[in-house]
Amino acid sequence: MDSILEKAYDAEAFRNTAHRIVDQLADFLKENQSGEAPKAIAYRPAQEAYAYWESVAGQPQPTEDLFGAILAQSVHLHHPQYMGHQVSPPAPLAALGSLLDGLLNNGMAVYEMGMASTAIERVVTEKVAQQMGFGPEAGGVLTSGGTLANLTALLTARSVKAREAVWSEGQAQPLALMVSEEAHYCVDRAVRIMGWGEAGIIKVPVNEKYQMRADLLPGLLADAEARGQQVIAVVGSACSTSTGSFDDLNAIAAFCEANGLWFHVDGAHGAALAFSPRHRHVLSGLSRADSVAMDFHKMLLTPVLATALIYKEGRQAYRTFSQRAHYLWAGQTEEEWENLAKRTFECTKYMIGVKVLTLWQAYGMGLWEAYLDKVMANGETLGRLVEAAPDFELALRPQCNIVCFRYAPDRLPPEQRSARNARIREALLADGAYYIVQTILKEELYLRVTLTSPHTEETHLRGLLDKIREVV
Ligand SMILES: *Cc1c(COP(=O)(O)O)cnc(C)c1O
Repeated sequence: MDSILEKAYDAEAFRNTAHRIVDQLADFLKENQSGEAPKAIAYRPAQEAYAYWESVAGQPQPTEDLFGAILAQSVHLHHPQYMGHQVSPPAPLAALGSLLDGLLNNGMAVYEMGMASTAIERVVTEKVAQQMGFGPEAGGVLTSGGTLANLTALLTARSVKAREAVWSEGQAQPLALMVSEEAHYCVDRAVRIMGWGEAGIIKVPVNEKYQMRADLLPGLLADAEARGQQVIAVVGSACSTSTGSFDDLNAIAAFCEANGLWFHVDGAHGAALAFSPRHRHVLSGLSRADSVAMDFHKMLLTPVLATALIYKEGRQAYRTFSQRAHYLWAGQTEEEWENLAKRTFECTKYMIGVKVLTLWQAYGMGLWEAYLDKVMANGETLGRLVEAAPDFELALRPQCNIVCFRYAPDRLPPEQRSARNARIREALLADGAYYIVQTILKEELYLRVTLTSPHTEETHLRGLLDKIREVV
């Protein structure tokens, strides 16, 4: 064998490097989880980052040095002052699952290409379905992210509900779905990917808590039908991305049941609360859905991308795709659970269930419960602190670990108030001690945090408000 190939596959060299890298990562964890590291993000403008990586790419470099540079130039989810987007800091053991995944590369699609991970995927989806309150006929698949899970569920809905055989004949009749105006943009995108155009997404206004106004659904359905559209589904948000608001799933379910519509729940963020006995009441009605998408990488400590798509009737998943691929599957019409690509958009994919199972085996599902209860309590605490602070204002009382608020010590016209909060967010990014984001609600800009680190304590939450007062 060529010596460079020998070097690349040398098991002893791998052992040595990997030991050093695990030490490096463990040090990184310690420094960040304790908050000793001064910054949650050492922000660098994109052009500068590009110039740096362009200048070093292709030059020989020990892997520790490369990883060290990447660690330094990345956002640190394990830092207690990371309060930005919704991705959770993976439990370190789950990251070892990623290493196993990366090395084995058993991409599934067909059973033999990933025997363990295929069977694990079935076990994981069945246990998640049970936890959500579904019956024994429920089942599902794991996908690369909530965006893809939502698209997949809507493709199933179309196959099941559209009057035409769209998969074989193409689509002539205008189809549509209804979803809250606060829903994640991927639902809108899925509609357009399916070729329904802008008219295919009927946006339902929200109430003062940013929940879908289910009382408007009958009128909107009648209007759509009068226009000649066939509405096939309603998508509930559990929760919405911007404000973390949970739609009334029972109300939407009742409407869908009465009108023969598919009920999909986008639970990318919040469906994880099914694993918290204390908080799962916010998902009341979830098990009346035809399908639910739930990310493991947002609230369940698993590395990206890891999402469950659960169907109330697992067999519906076989109707999502039905193109012929005889070289992969002997019996096209047979429902072979073990050949996963029959039901997933992906052909080859990650061994997603392996990372989930790694956590279950080591800690049990109690790990998730403890985590969820901690970050939910943090959301409540921050809500309380903001409410009590005379110079801050809540956008709405938080319904989970997503909190939207703004600095508002005085009465300013809306535009100036938004501009000031935009400057605060910019100053925080440049400072780097805290990482938070922003959002637009009713045309005004708010600061937005998602409390995902289990190491975040009340002192960090108070510290954030003080930091804002300092940088303003
Ligand atoms: C994050 C999120 C998504 C997108 O999920 P990805 O895993 O990032 O693709 C979809 N819907 C909601 C409600 C979300 O919060």
